[in-house]
Amino acid sequence: MARAAVPGRLGARLRWLQARLTGRRDESDTAGTLVFDVPGWPGHLPGQHVDVRLTAEDGYSTQRSYSIASAPDGERVELTVERIDDGEVSPYLVDVLKVGDVIELRGPVGGWFVWRPEEQKEPVLLVAGGSGMVPLMAMIRTRRALGNRVPFRLVYGLRSPRSQLFVPDLRTQDPG
Ligand SMILES: Cc1cc2nc3c(=O)[nH]c(=O)nc-3n(C[C@H](O)[C@H](O)[C@H](O)COP(=O)(O)OP(=O)(O)OC[C@H]3O[C@@H](n4cnc5c(N)ncnc54)[C@H](O)[C@@H]3O)c2cc1C
Repeated sequence: MARAAVPGRLGARLRWLQARLTGRRDESDTAGTLVFDVPGWPGHLPGQHVDVRLTAEDGYSTQRSYSIASAPDGERVELTVERIDDGEVSPYLVDVLKVGDVIELRGPVGGWFVWRPEEQKEPVLLVAGGSGMVPLMAMIRTRRALGNRVPFRLVYGLRSPRSQLFVPDLRTQDPG
């Protein structure tokens, strides 16, 4: 029953929470990281994701999933979003949402694709392509925050060097 301890595993525990954008930074020409303050956030494990719900003034509403990019840190949650030019939601999040705006988040979601530093002592091979790097960055950041020495190796595939995410963070990582 170990999975019962994973935050957000049980649907009944998931409810929509208000998330206020408190900061943002560019990650590449096409991606940005959004920093949210989420009162009531239950905490997460690196590798989990959230559902994001946007609701227009006329009541139209739409949802997408985004991996959590940040290590667990109280009620702060970071998402890194790649802009899909003809997409509905990602251009809004990357280009339009501004500091102070409030959206809705539900999560954390997902109990299998996670790294549990207190239980998992084996070396970890991380393999990512494109925005698939986001949940792996949460694992790398968690390892760093905890001073964990489990060996991590990363294989990261990119369409072009300019599309790399988390360049400053990855440069400063201790290779372990
Ligand atoms: C678990 C999970 C985690 C994710 N994590 C991240 C993350 O960390 N970062 C990230 O950037 N993304 C992530 N995604 C992807 C994200 O959920 C969105 O799919 C992405 O942002 C695109 O959404 P959009 O609304 O901009 O594009 P959409 O409007 O959904 O369109 C996406 C593309 O599909 C095409 N399309 C849409 N509808 C149709 C249709 N009916 N027929 C044919 N083509 C169509 C569009 O033209 C466009 O090219 C994740 C997805 C999942 C499931």
